[in-house]
Amino acid sequence: MQPPVEKVASGLWSVPTVVPDNPIGWTQTYLIESSDGPYLVDTGWNHDLAWADLTAGLVSCGTSVSDIRGVIVTHHHPDHLGLVGRVREASGCWVGMHDADTDLVTRHRAILADDPEVFDKDTAVKLLEAGAGQCDVDEVQSASKLVHMPRPELPDRSLDTSVLQLGDRRVELLHTPGHTPGHLCLRVDGRLLTGDHLLKTISSHVGLYGFESDEGDPLGDFFDSLRLLTGAEPTEVLPAHRGRFHGVDDRVAELLQHHEERLGDIVAALAAGPVTPWALSRAMTWNRPWDELPRMMLRAALAETMAHVRHLELSGVVVVDPATAGVPTLLRLA
Ligand SMILES: [Zn+2]
Ligand SMILES: [Zn+2]
Repeated sequence: MQPPVEKVASGLWSVPTVVPDNPIGWTQTYLIESSDGPYLVDTGWNHDLAWADLTAGLVSCGTSVSDIRGVIVTHHHPDHLGLVGRVREASGCWVGMHDADTDLVTRHRAILADDPEVFDKDTAVKLLEAGAGQCDVDEVQSASKLVHMPRPELPDRSLDTSVLQLGDRRVELLHTPGHTPGHLCLRVDGRLLTGDHLLKTISSHVGLYGFESDEGDPLGDFFDSLRLLTGAEPTEVLPAHRGRFHGVDDRVAELLQHHEERLGDIVAALAAGPVTPWALSRAMTWNRPWDELPRMMLRAALAETMAHVRHLELSGVVVVDPATAGVPTLLRLA
């Protein structure tokens, strides 16, 4: 259940905003008060109900959306970036994000301007190349059509920096790529705001979507970004979804082990012979059986599998034979 607005510490509030019709439930945005006025960390999904949560929530904190001086966006996903346009319009504030995510949003906006259906069409091609059947493609596409994705807003400030001075508040920015290439975590007065990088009960989504010519090794980046947080326990961890928690080192160890197990599962599956990415995804362990996963999540599940495959490919363990002329991609052990 969506929690109430809460004062986390002196000059630091959590303000939940609903993400309608989405199992994630809500985005936890944070308000940082300073001698210079209030600043926001993330906004929420671009929806009237989320906007109502945010504006009423800020009033509960003793301020108002028109007073916001700046928004630090942890990453470009629509449950974080979505409302920045409305906040900026209401307040005249700046909006900052890491350059790597801004580059991604810039490219997506350009592609969408040329053809609003492009990602839908590309998803169909990618799924078929991965070995999905036409009925799988139809199911995924009809589920995705239910989610309205407005064109993302562009930030107007680069947060490619390690320290941000907000009036009398000093905020340390940590570049933590993996979930997205420009993901940021923040240290504020001994507390760690982790966006979607480190969550208490959810394993962050790390995916390889094949939209970019070189997406590198997002899972390897994610591992490095997890290790970056260890060895300096914060007073408390403030994630963007679900509850706050303690114990970064333990949670990081758990997540690293979780992914090592998934990598081991892939090697074990491929030991029986080559398979398509789709068949491999079906065989992987998810938080519920494959056939019960919401259809709109299957593209992300495939992308998550492929991020693991890419990591094994770059380690020389797995070979990817790309799709050619109607024959889907095949994965095999090196
Ligand atoms: Zn995210
Ligand atoms: Zn999120």
